[in-house]
Amino acid sequence: MIELKKLKAHFPLINEMQHYNPIFWKNPNFRKNATFPFTLNDIEDAAARLERFSSYIRKVFPETEKDNGIIESPLKAIPFMQQALTKSEHLEQSGKLWLKCDSHLAISGSIKARGGIYEVLKLAETIAIQDGSLKQSDDYQVLAEPYFKDLFNQYTVAVGSTGNLGLSIGMMSAQFGFQVTVHMSSDARQWKKDLLRSHGVEVVEHQSDYQYAVAEGRKAAESDPTCHFVDDEGSADLFLGYTVAALRLKTQLSNEGIQVDAEHPLFVYLPCGVGGGPGGVAFGLNQVFGEHVYCLFAEPTHAPCMTLGMMTQYHDQIAVTDIGLDGQTDADGLAVSRPSTLVGEIMNTLLYGAYTIEDQQMYRYLYMLSEKEQIFIEPSAAAGFAGIKEVLNHADSHKINLANANHIVWATGGNMVPKEEMLKYVEQGKQ
Ligand SMILES: *Cc1c(COP(=O)(O)O)cnc(C)c1O
Repeated sequence: MIELKKLKAHFPLINEMQHYNPIFWKNPNFRKNATFPFTLNDIEDAAARLERFSSYIRKVFPETEKDNGIIESPLKAIPFMQQALTKSEHLEQSGKLWLKCDSHLAISGSIKARGGIYEVLKLAETIAIQDGSLKQSDDYQVLAEPYFKDLFNQYTVAVGSTGNLGLSIGMMSAQFGFQVTVHMSSDARQWKKDLLRSHGVEVVEHQSDYQYAVAEGRKAAESDPTCHFVDDEGSADLFLGYTVAALRLKTQLSNEGIQVDAEHPLFVYLPCGVGGGPGGVAFGLNQVFGEHVYCLFAEPTHAPCMTLGMMTQYHDQIAVTDIGLDGQTDADGLAVSRPSTLVGEIMNTLLYGAYTIEDQQMYRYLYMLSEKEQIFIEPSAAAGFAGIKEVLNHADSHKINLANANHIVWATGGNMVPKEEMLKYVEQGKQ
C-alpha cells in the first residue's frame, strides 16, 4: 500500500500533480554512478541486425528505397518555430532548436517504427535461423519468398497498445506473414483500428485502458507456445531497437557540424508513455555522447506515470491513479498510468529531468509548428516543446553553457494521422 500522506510530505510536487498543474522535476540522481543491463555493444548489435535486414526492408517497403532500407528520420532546424517560441515564451539564450522527425519515420509514422519493427525483425531472424533456412551472411531479401511466408504463418505475434505500437508491430508482422493480434485500449483511435484491419491484422478492442490491453495480450499469448508477445512494459528487444536512434543521431549531428561537448551541451526532449521509446533513445544518447547530453521526458498532466515512478522511486509499483489522477488525455501515445518495469531504474541516473504539459498546450505547439514550419505532428509528439523554457529557467547556467546549447525536440508521431483528423488537431490548436 502506498501511504499518500507520507509520500506527499517527501515529494511536495505531488500536490501540484494532483491538481493537474504542469510541473518540472529535476532528477537528484542525475550523473551518479550506476550499472546498466545493456552496453554500447548491445546497441551496435541491434544496429547491425537492422543493417542485415535493410535489403529486405527496401524490397518490401519501396518507400525506404531512398534510404537503402534503413528506417531513419530527418533532423531539421526549425528557425521559424524557434522565433515564435522565443517571442511567446521569452526564451532568450536558447541556442539552436531542432526537430527530430520520427513523426515521419517510414512504415508506421511514429517512434514505434524503431523498437516495434526491430523486435519483429529479430523474431523473424531467430525463427528462420532456427529453421535452418537462413544464415546471418545471407541476403535477407530471401525472407520475402513464399517459403518464409509459410514458415512465419505458423506463428502469431501479439501486442497490447494504445495505437502506434500496434500499427508498427501490425504492419511489420503482417508483411512477414505472421498472424497478428493487436489488443487495443479504449483510447486508441478508430482510424488506427481500421487501418490495421485493412492489413489483415486481428484487432481486439477492450473497453479499458492501456495496462488492461497489455495484460489481456500477455494472457492470450501465455497459453500458446507459437505466440510471441511484444511486451511494451518490459521488453529488452523493444528497448534496444529504440537505442539505435543515438548512433544515427550522432551521424546526423556531425553532418550538420554540431559538436556535443562542455561548450556545446545537447538537450533532448522526449515525450514519454510507458517509457520504452524515450528511455531507449535516452540510454543510447548517454552511451554515445556521455556527460554533455541532457535528456528530459515530457508527460501529460493527467498521466505523468514515469515522473511519479522515478521521483518516488516506486517505479512500476505506483500508478497515477494512486494519487487520484484520471489518466485521461488526448495524447493517446502517452495515455499510460503505470510506467515500464524496466525503464525507470535504467533512467535513474541518466535522466536530467521530467515535466508535464496540458493537452491544450500540446495542441498550441502542434498548431504553431504547422503554421511556422509546415510540419504536421500528433498531440503526443508536440509535448517536447514545453521543456525548453523549463531548462532555461531551471538549469544551472554557471555550469552549463546554455547560450551554445542545441535543443532537440523529439517529434514522436503524426504521419499516419488521416488528413481530416490532422486538420481538426490544427484547428483545435488555433482556437
Ligand atoms: C508510444 C509513443 C510515445 C512514447 O513511447 P513509450 O515507449 O510509450 O514511452 C510518444 N509519442 C508517441 C506519438 C507514441 O506513439
